[in-house]
Amino acid sequence: MVKDDQIIEFQPNIFWLKGKDTSSHSYLIRGDYKNVLIDSGVDKEFSRLQKSLLKVGLKLRDVDIVINTHEHFDHIGANRYFQDYALIAAHRFAATKITLEDRYVTVYKPGDLNETCLKVHLWLENRFRFDLGNYSLEVVNTPGHTSGSICIYEFASKILFTGDTIFAGGTLSYIGGSGSVGDYINSISLLATRKIEELYPGHGNISKTPEEDMKKAILNARALLRDEEGVEITHFRELS
Ligand SMILES: [Zn+2]
Repeated sequence: MVKDDQIIEFQPNIFWLKGKDTSSHSYLIRGDYKNVLIDSGVDKEFSRLQKSLLKVGLKLRDVDIVINTHEHFDHIGANRYFQDYALIAAHRFAATKITLEDRYVTVYKPGDLNETCLKVHLWLENRFRFDLGNYSLEVVNTPGHTSGSICIYEFASKILFTGDTIFAGGTLSYIGGSGSVGDYINSISLLATRKIEELYPGHGNISKTPEEDMKKAILNARALLRDEEGVEITHFRELS
């Protein structure tokens, strides 16, 4: 098992590659057939990601598929280093925004700009499945944080990669321009019907109490709908 302060192998061949500062975490699934990276983080943290991949024995070209949980810059920024070798996958609502390079919705800031056109090869739909042999990943469309947000469910270990949709403790993320609190509540309510053992979010800690955290997220979102004060929202850098 690989474990240091940047990488934790939570399940055999599933690695948490921790993001730094505003950059999202990445997760690497070393599959029997294909290797999948969930989210690439910000462009300027790419060398850190590359080092983490090397530590788990993978070169850049060994990553076969990059799945983006949604279209925000802190999750897609390093895609450009992978897109000539790997297939880039995102929900179709995220894919349109990524490929059109709509910098209002991807929340790019001047320091994050890169001049390479971003590609999306696989435009995902709800229930699309990646069969990796040892693991099987299902796309769950979870609009709310943004319209193109997805979570990825792994069947064997019953874990859910959540992007910015659910965080440990049920803290809400900021609801993006294309997002909706109503959709968010529906998405989490649907997720809550699944058997989930652990949540692996795009920022912060992982959660070993998914049921509790999803309930809290729904309560927080309802409070936000009612415009109550004091609802805890994590902004990371998206609104700064
Ligand atoms: Zn986001």
